[in-house]
Amino acid sequence: MTTFKQENVDEYYDIGEELGSGHFAVVRKCREKSTGTEFAAKFIKKRRSKSSKRGVSREDIEREVNILKEIQHPNVITLHDVFENKAEVVLILELVAGGELFDFLAEKESLTEEQATMFLKQILDGVLYLHSKQIAHFDLKPENIMLLNRTVPHPRIKLIDFGLAHKIDFGNEFKNIFGTPEFVAPEVVNYEPLGLAADMWSVGVITYIL
Ligand code: ATP
Repeated sequence: MTTFKQENVDEYYDIGEELGSGHFAVVRKCREKSTGTEFAAKFIKKRRSKSSKRGVSREDIEREVNILKEIQHPNVITLHDVFENKAEVVLILELVAGGELFDFLAEKESLTEEQATMFLKQILDGVLYLHSKQIAHFDLKPENIMLLNRTVPHPRIKLIDFGLAHKIDFGNEFKNIFGTPEFVAPEVVNYEPLGLAADMWSVGVITYIL
């Protein structure tokens, strides 16, 4: 079992406002005391027992952390540090301050074709990088694509949330039912073996939305 830093995260970071939340995680802005650099702290609730339906299993948290540790790309979030206490694991992530692509799109009547291609190119660059490392994201959607700065004419995007991401091992069949219904590939729904191509279905749906 991987162990994470057992020290209190508050000793090293000032924890600030909430940036977003998911099923079992809350993400807050934070500032590293030693450097003044801002990050996003993702507080993931640990599952207390095997039978419990609340919280995330140790195995799933370690998978997310191990995948995050491996990645370094301009269009993908990076991991800075990991802490844990009895109830939570805290991921210190690069801060992406411009909000979700989901909200950016919701505020606009429509995008121009040029704007849509600008976003799509970056999404594809990020996905190509992940796939070159045999990593399938399995939860690509506008809520998991964030803008670095929404006020500039050509916002840079970052892919976030590696909670469902898996390394695809060609020797082993991997099946699972998960993801977000509107974006999920047919092979997921049909409980068929999954691979990198499942992400491309989601990219197709995102392209349509853009
Ligand atoms: P879900 O249960 O939907 O899969 P989750 O619990 O895995 O979500 P994330 O999707 O990683 O949590 O984060 C929840 C929300 O927090 C995101 O949708 C986003 O709004 C915000 N968020 C996550 N990471 C960052 C970041 N690095 N910088 C800024 N905001 C972030």
